[in-house]
Amino acid sequence: MKLVLLGAPGTGKGTMATDIAKSLLLPHISTGDIFRANISGGTELGTKAKRYLDEGKLVPDELTIGMVKDRLAQSDCKDGFILDGFPRTVPQAKALDEMLLQGGSKLDLVINLQVPEELIFKRITNRLVCSSCGKPYNKLEFPPAKEGVCDFCAGEVIQRQDDTAETLRTRLDTYHELTAPLVTYYQQQGILIDYDNSGKHSQESVDNLIEKVKAKIESISKSSYVGGNEN
Ligand code: AMP
Repeated sequence: MKLVLLGAPGTGKGTMATDIAKSLLLPHISTGDIFRANISGGTELGTKAKRYLDEGKLVPDELTIGMVKDRLAQSDCKDGFILDGFPRTVPQAKALDEMLLQGGSKLDLVINLQVPEELIFKRITNRLVCSSCGKPYNKLEFPPAKEGVCDFCAGEVIQRQDDTAETLRTRLDTYHELTAPLVTYYQQQGILIDYDNSGKHSQESVDNLIEKVKAKIESISKSSYVGGNEN
């Protein structure tokens, strides 16, 4: 299954993607996490990307696309993946289609997570993340059992540097200008589902979304089969 999670910052992409990946045994590819790992590791890519992340702006397409191409070429992505935070621009979406086409495949589904903007502000300013394994937390909704310590790997749980109200405004403006057009892009391909993710995150909400994903993929494959017979 080849999935993309789309949505503004704070709509729960990371949290949902982590849990869907675990349930469906898919590699979870978060471009934000890869950039952050490169920044902490002091790599050339990290050095180039850092200022964009600090300012809440998008890293240029050529750097981002190259990085994703390398990641998707790894063997664990052969049979499927869940992309979180990529694509974020129309050129990135076109590059992804092209990469998959070259390997004789295509995206199965794009999940568009929706959350009202007031709630996004509340979530982001209360968001925490494990600095070792990337597991997301929230001070109000699902904090780590022991303050500052990851439940899964005992790594340090921190607040991201770009999770301030000011940087969030820039990130939301960037989302509306450059990423929101992807909703129409994927609607036109008939592979987009909307999901209201404003409720409390739970195993039930994950299972509910997975059911919707499976049902939509099935209906897409049935309609393309019927289409194939008719033409
Ligand atoms: P995220 O963890 O998805 O919120 O991403 C954090 C930051 O990483 C973003 O604000 C961008 O600076 C950068 N980033 C992540 N994904 C992309 C992408 N697909 N294109 C450009 N920049 C990205």
